Amino acid sequence: MTTNQLVLIEARENDIREVSFEALALAQHLKQKEDSIVALVCSKLSQKQIETLGQHGATKVIQASHPQLEEYSTEAYRQVLLQIIDKEKPSRIIMGHTAIGKDLAPRLAMKLGAGLLSDITEVRGEDSEKPFFIRPIYSGKAFEEKQERSSPSFLTIRPNNFQSNCLENIQHPEVEDFEVQLKELRTEILETVKKMSSKVDLTAAKIVVAGGRGVKSEDGFKPLQELADVLGGAVGASRAACDAGYCDYGLQIGQTGKVITPTVYFAIGISGAIQHLAGMSQSKTIVAINKDPEAPIFEIADYGIVGDLFEVVPLLTEAFKKSAD
Ligand code: FAD
Repeated sequence: MTTNQLVLIEARENDIREVSFEALALAQHLKQKEDSIVALVCSKLSQKQIETLGQHGATKVIQASHPQLEEYSTEAYRQVLLQIIDKEKPSRIIMGHTAIGKDLAPRLAMKLGAGLLSDITEVRGEDSEKPFFIRPIYSGKAFEEKQERSSPSFLTIRPNNFQSNCLENIQHPEVEDFEVQLKELRTEILETVKKMSSKVDLTAAKIVVAGGRGVKSEDGFKPLQELADVLGGAVGASRAACDAGYCDYGLQIGQTGKVITPTVYFAIGISGAIQHLAGMSQSKTIVAINKDPEAPIFEIADYGIVGDLFEVVPLLTEAFKKSAD
């Protein structure tokens, strides 16, 4: 019997989000011989995008397109996912641990009486029938290992933790246009206000330049934005910086903000409170800039610069600019 894996593809403004390719990579790792990997997208993709999903392991692409699915809506997505799960009968459903995945996966798991392993950062024993899934707990201070106990089971993966993987042999996936039939929705989206809080999506950025209370003002964030621009990264912030009105709450990283795992995280004028670490301690490389040599952030930093951020940051920006030339 084949075991379908269903991967929810998130497409935003016609771009497929990187985390969806990472979810396909995980499905590839977990694939047993005859498994199919079904990619579900709640919109219409271009032929090129469908081919790209094939290159990333999708054996079939289901497009569920409907005017009520153009913007994410819990009710509409939930209905469509339930219909497709009923039809495809996947044994595993994978999605990003994103705003959508965090909202949708527990609702679906609850409805289907299925298990949910959320915020997965690693998998071990992927060749076996019962792999172990690793997830951080207690704000990243410990990890737990979990195994699936139900079929279907739901997995949400933390962005930037799995390497997306292109197949060598180009695969042309079967394409199905799913006829969406929605029962009456109890909520209606009247307007979506898009806030440009950062030029680059903070949750997907490989490089994040984050500022804290030490940045001192909204203007103080400008040198950080310049550094982020040179590196192609996103700007983030501590809660103290957001509370002080230096930047938008959409940039907040930490226990009550966004949880991110970039390749490089710059903590600038940030002391390193435990609630902040909860959102960034899993970053691959942490660079701290702080004028206080005793600041707790240095305990988890891979590289530390003791100095005034207003002197250090422009020097770094210049140096990176030169090395890019
Ligand atoms: P501070 O702790 O004030 O640190 C500022 C740092 O800047 C200092 O280390 C100082 O030495 C340095 N500095 C000052 N001037 C300069 C300069 N010129 N050059 C270089 N360095 C300089 N916080 C979060 O960030 N995210 C959360 O999600 C979050 N959730 C919370 C949830 C709860 C329930 C609670 C109680 C708190 C939460 N906090 C959160 C707040 C957290 O406890 C800290 O208060 C906050 O992280 C401190 O932010 P900070 O490091 O920017 O400020």
